[in-house]
Amino acid sequence: MRIVKCGDLGFKCNFMATGNEIDQVEKNMLDHIEEEHKGELASMAEDDLHHLKHRVSTLSGRSCGCGEHHH
Ligand SMILES: [Zn+2]
Repeated sequence: MRIVKCGDLGFKCNFMATGNEIDQVEKNMLDHIEEEHKGELASMAEDDLHHLKHRVSTLSGRSCGCGEHHH
């Protein structure tokens, strides 16, 4: 089970995206952000949005660079 916390992305929010697959967690988190944090997204620069998405990927376990799952 993978968990990404919305609070870890810098939002004041208790939402946690969970799932067994990276893709699933990532999608849950991005869906949540787009629905619940529209206002914040609208005020973010494109650079910040890119960083935010990168951070979601990292937290869901994708960007470790080794291709293996961490425990
Ligand atoms: Zn949130």
